[in-house]
Amino acid sequence: MIKLTLPDGSAREIEAAQSAAEIVKGIGMGLYKAACCVKINGEVKDLRTVIDSDCQFEVCTFDSIDGKKTFWHTASHILAQAVKRLYPAAKLAIGPAIDNGFYYDFDLEKPFTPEELEKIEAEMKNIVKEGIELEKFELSPAEAIAKLKEMDEPYKVELCEEHADKGEPISFYKQGEFIDLCAGPHLMTTAPVKAFKLISCTGAYWRGSEKNKMLSRVYATAYPKAADLEADLKQREEAKLRDHNKLGRELEYFTTVDVIGQGLPVLLPKGARVVQLLQRWVEDVEQKHGYLLTKTPLFAKREFFKISGHWDHYLDGMFIMGDPYDEEKECFALRPMTCPFQYQVFLNRQRSYRDLPMRLGETSTLFRKEDSGEMHGLIRVRQFTISEGHLVLRPEQLEEEFKGCLELAKYMLGTVGLLEDCTFRFSQWDPANPKNKYEGTKEQWDHAQDVMGKILDHLGLEYTIGIDEAAFYGPKLDIQYKNVYGKEDTLVTIQIDMLLAQRFGMEYVDVDGTKKTPYIIHRTSLGCYERTLAYMIEKYAGAMPLWLAPEQVRIVPVADRHLDFCNELMSKLEAAGIRATIDDRAEKVGKKVRDARLEKLPVWVTVGDKEVESNTVSVSSRREGDLGSMTQGEFIAKLLQDVSGL
Ligand SMILES: [Zn+2]
Ligand SMILES: [Zn+2]
Repeated sequence: MIKLTLPDGSAREIEAAQSAAEIVKGIGMGLYKAACCVKINGEVKDLRTVIDSDCQFEVCTFDSIDGKKTFWHTASHILAQAVKRLYPAAKLAIGPAIDNGFYYDFDLEKPFTPEELEKIEAEMKNIVKEGIELEKFELSPAEAIAKLKEMDEPYKVELCEEHADKGEPISFYKQGEFIDLCAGPHLMTTAPVKAFKLISCTGAYWRGSEKNKMLSRVYATAYPKAADLEADLKQREEAKLRDHNKLGRELEYFTTVDVIGQGLPVLLPKGARVVQLLQRWVEDVEQKHGYLLTKTPLFAKREFFKISGHWDHYLDGMFIMGDPYDEEKECFALRPMTCPFQYQVFLNRQRSYRDLPMRLGETSTLFRKEDSGEMHGLIRVRQFTISEGHLVLRPEQLEEEFKGCLELAKYMLGTVGLLEDCTFRFSQWDPANPKNKYEGTKEQWDHAQDVMGKILDHLGLEYTIGIDEAAFYGPKLDIQYKNVYGKEDTLVTIQIDMLLAQRFGMEYVDVDGTKKTPYIIHRTSLGCYERTLAYMIEKYAGAMPLWLAPEQVRIVPVADRHLDFCNELMSKLEAAGIRATIDDRAEKVGKKVRDARLEKLPVWVTVGDKEVESNTVSVSSRREGDLGSMTQGEFIAKLLQDVSGL
């Protein structure tokens, strides 16, 4: 007898070893039809897997993440099969499931046109209709490489060769005439992939590196039901209207220039203004919270990053100036973090327990060598500016200071309107990490994570756990945010570091006169300014709140004879610190108002004969609608009140 324990705690017994598929059929044909894969003792497996011993047994349908990924990954094989039928010369690279569907990378003569994508979709429909069974088989590494060479799939050969060292069998999936190197799991047949859409075809470097060949990536999604696909496509259309990468360019917040380089956006006057307003505000608030402002160099010698550990753990992420391996010559690197620079402020003279906690803040520009395939508008960039800070403290101050950092971040994210959509992630190391990734011993990590876990639990914070997401020097609390397409990134981070102070010889004299090593908290209070701007453009669909709008008021004269009055109003607004412009173009008033709306201005006023005679303005607000006429004094008072309510 083999005993299966189901997720609800109930047990099911089978006489002898059986495939998961047969077991699910036994539970019910309805469930079998919906099943995409199973989890055996928590591990995602194929329905083909034979169960021959007692285990925890869970069925995953499309409603679960693992079910979706299996479904999408099978859809990606259907896409590849269709492409090979129509374009036999195409070479296959990789085709994984992603957060909202899947993609497949192909090496082609030229990328697919929209018409070609339609043809491929039609062929995919045939493959689904044929209801082809997927079969799994395994080969030894040597056989697998020979097979892939015979199939003339050089990218697959490269992938296979990397796994060959382990000596483990290599698995393949076959559906009809199509064979793909693949770890699985997969659906049993192609039939359930009823509704799908090829969304776009873009360039992507093999393995994300510009040193490699540019491949053609087809993005797509798939569902068991047509109605769900339609809902998804509708949502994608709506997301496009908020997409900062489109809207932010149209509204002239930023642009990119090919010859400058990828991930190096140019902030246009509007974007630069919003970032300036945010920076001034953050610096002022941090000052009130006891932060000392620093300004430190943007780059340093190789030897400096050797002490900090960046050379050992982060070299691939840095822009190096000089030959990193020629020890004879001077070599510099642009900074990827501010930490080691700010430690020099602490090290400037001897410190005692009275100096702690020392809270250091800097509006800091950083440089990170992200993969070119990862670049996205203002969210993934190679140069960015962040409200970075380090708190040097006595161990007993850790909880209090951590709490202070979290409250400050929550206040700031709340003020810009992003907090309600944030989630929290406790990012831990992976004890089975590739070597060189983390500093410190298992004991040190267990201790740091234990302390941080207790603090988070005391604060009653709801969080998920991210394994292998820690910094190389310690665990992190990451505040996560999703863009309009559902892609998640870190907006704010608060990190506990018990390791780096020692590397720099940082010490303080404690109450009892002995020298001690401090702890460090690395933190930001608002995400990097470029990323925060991007999320705000998406959140507000380009209509910035009044206090952050680059242009707060547009004054619209009906005719030239009203310009004197407008100029007078403009001077008063400027004197009150309100950012305003006059639209003195020779256009109809209706067109000027329409443009103010399209440019997402928060407030605009019109001035005609009636207004000049009665010494008033007619006010419209994006959020409040038509506000009628007001005296100039009333109008300015209202604006100042709205701005101060930030
Ligand atoms: Zn696969
Ligand atoms: Zn740091």
